[in-house]
Formats: sequence, structure tokens, C-alpha cells
Amino acid sequence: MKTEQSYKGKVVLAIGAHPDDIDFAASGTIAKMIKEGATAYHLLLTNGNKGSEDPKISKEKLAEIRRKEQITAAKILGFEKVFFLDHEDCNLVDDINLKEEIVYHIRKLKPDIVFCWDPTLIYSLRHNYIMHSDHRAAGQATLDAVYPLSRDRLTFQNLENYGVKPHKVKAVYMINIDEGDNFFDISETIDLKIKALKAHKSQVSARHIEMIKGWAKETGRKVNFKYAEAFKKIELLQ
Ligand SMILES: [Zn+2]
Repeated sequence: MKTEQSYKGKVVLAIGAHPDDIDFAASGTIAKMIKEGATAYHLLLTNGNKGSEDPKISKEKLAEIRRKEQITAAKILGFEKVFFLDHEDCNLVDDINLKEEIVYHIRKLKPDIVFCWDPTLIYSLRHNYIMHSDHRAAGQATLDAVYPLSRDRLTFQNLENYGVKPHKVKAVYMINIDEGDNFFDISETIDLKIKALKAHKSQVSARHIEMIKGWAKETGRKVNFKYAEAFKKIELLQ
């Protein structure tokens, strides 16, 4: 599916569990949307403070490093701002508090398009991958926040005190590395994606870069693009 539409004036909100999630899975597409006129924000749910095998690093230090890496990556891609919720890595639960935090940001930023994890993918045999529980929790809380929680005035009515009003998101693009069927040509933005990934120095190796390029190529092959990212898309009734 080729996307020729302009994103001028559109607002995109990408909601990731860990620093680097969105950059791994959706940054080629979001960078393209930004180039075509969208304003993009990144809402990051955890501080990523468990993602290291370095025996000397503390959780606090790691969180600080990853925060800086995420800010650098977001600048490379053209994001307007990153919002950090700073939940503990590996402890994310899709409870009502997390949903309220996401609803607050949706009502404040008023996105047309939300990117998030697909909470239904538990593992991938094709990619030899077990889905991180934070990814599932982030995806589930985001879908619930999009519908119906952000929409309904009587839900989290206390948020009116912070000057935000109910909002209807138009479309959700879910990251599902096995079953994405909504394809974006990222041939123009693959270099930006790689550059953003390299900003996550504490996480990303040359092997990762090759793997990500390989996946983008494999996805692109299905639709005759050199490189592509694919999502499950929900177009919401307004
Ligand atoms: Zn992650």
C-alpha cells in the first residue's frame, strides 16, 4: 500500500515502553511524516533502567544515559518533544493510573495518529522473539487510553483542572513485527532511522543495525519498496 497523502498539519504521538522502541520499529515512518509536515511527539513510559549487561552500571546511571540518548535520537528524527513518564523498566502494568497518564498526554497533544505496540503479540516464531511484557502493557494501556478513555468527558474528569479536554484520535498504527499489513516506504528515511538508532549507544550494536536493515528490506520486498516498515492500522470512527 503506497502512502501518497500529505501529513501537513497532522499531529503524531508515538508511545513507546522503553527508550529506543519507537526508533527501532517506527522511526522511518514517523521521520517521513515529519518531512511531509507532521508535528510529532514521543511519550516514553519507562526509563529503561534495566537494559544493560554492564556489571558496573547502576539503574540510576543507566536511566540518565538512556534519557539523553532518547533526546538525541528524537532530535535527529525531528520530533518536537519527548515526554518521560519514568516508570520502572520491566514493571509496567496497564492499570488505570498508567491509562490516566496516557489520556492526559493524548488530551493535551491532540494527536491525529498514535503509534504504539500491538499488545496481542506475545512471541514471534518468525523473528525468534518474546515480546517484552512492558511492550504488551504499553500497547494495551495505549489502546484503552485512545478508546474510550480519552474520548469520554466523564472519564478522568479531574484532568479538566489541567486545562485538557476530551479528544478523539483518528488512527492508530500498532507495531507488530509479524503481521503488519499497512506498509510505509522508508527508503528516503532509512539513513535517519539508522542514525537515530546509533544515538542509543548503550543499546545498539553494529549487529542490531544490520538486523534492523535486514527487517526493513524484508518488509519492503513484500510491497516493492527498498526499505519499509509495516503496522496494523485501526482507523477509528469519528
Ligand atoms: Zn522495548
